[in-house]
Amino acid sequence: MYARRMVKLTKQIDDSVLVTPGAKSNLRKRATNADDIFDDREAAEEATKENAKAIDALQDALWAERKRALLVILQGIDTSGKDGTVRAVFNRCGPLGVQVTPFGKPSDEELAHDFLWRIHMATPKKGVIGVFNRSQYEDVLVVKVRNLAPAAVVEQRYEQINAFEAHLNDTGTTVLKFMLNISRDEQRERLQARLDDAEKNWKFNAADLEDRKLWDDYQKAYEVALDRCSTAHAPWRVVPADRKWQRNAIIAATVRKALEDLAPQYPKPDWKPGDFKIE
Ligand code: ADP
Repeated sequence: MYARRMVKLTKQIDDSVLVTPGAKSNLRKRATNADDIFDDREAAEEATKENAKAIDALQDALWAERKRALLVILQGIDTSGKDGTVRAVFNRCGPLGVQVTPFGKPSDEELAHDFLWRIHMATPKKGVIGVFNRSQYEDVLVVKVRNLAPAAVVEQRYEQINAFEAHLNDTGTTVLKFMLNISRDEQRERLQARLDDAEKNWKFNAADLEDRKLWDDYQKAYEVALDRCSTAHAPWRVVPADRKWQRNAIIAATVRKALEDLAPQYPKPDWKPGDFKIE
């Protein structure tokens, strides 16, 4: 019941979350909540659970087939909910089928290579769903905002990323990209909760406050990345993420739909059960 409803919902939401390739993303005008689409929190949470279950079943077939891979990229500023999304959307998948990779500050070794080196090494092999918590986009976001590389180097990266993602797509990896879009007020509340709530203290990082001061610069950098890297083979989706349950519902439904479109098939055995007798 929920399954049908959510697939329909995905189609409806897709128009609002998708960044049409070639068009401006207009990030600043995009909603950070989806109250106009969702009025029933319970139904949305139920649907997310159903979709997480379906994602697990589809992943099983993807692994059995071992011909294609799915890469889910999660980007968003601090507190936007990247970890929470992984927990809600992939919680039914066993550890064998899903591989989550967080990308933090590059090591000396990683910096000694081209910026896509560590990214490419972490892409999922055939049969696996890979989830990136941050990604190659950090190299045109934090690196741009904090001037960690010359502007001309950053400038080249958009096309390099597009070419890399086209290569992944052409060689059997579907790329789904989600930008978790939260408001400045929502970020304040989430950071404050990390100070106020003892169980969340461990998540607090004073450096996040420094990034918060650069809010406008980050928004601008995101806008450029969305404008230049939403392609037909790997489009961006900007997900309203102020409400976790809406964010989860949108992403779970979209991931499920992508897997259903891949329609992974269990391989047919080239033997019959009657061919064997187990003593
Ligand atoms: P998170 O904030 O995602 O939970 P961390 O606290 O490890 O995890 O933060 C990762 C940090 O690494 C972020 O501040 C991010 O901007 C930074 N980072 C990621 N990729 C790069 C990069 N290519 N160059 C510089 N900094 C990066």
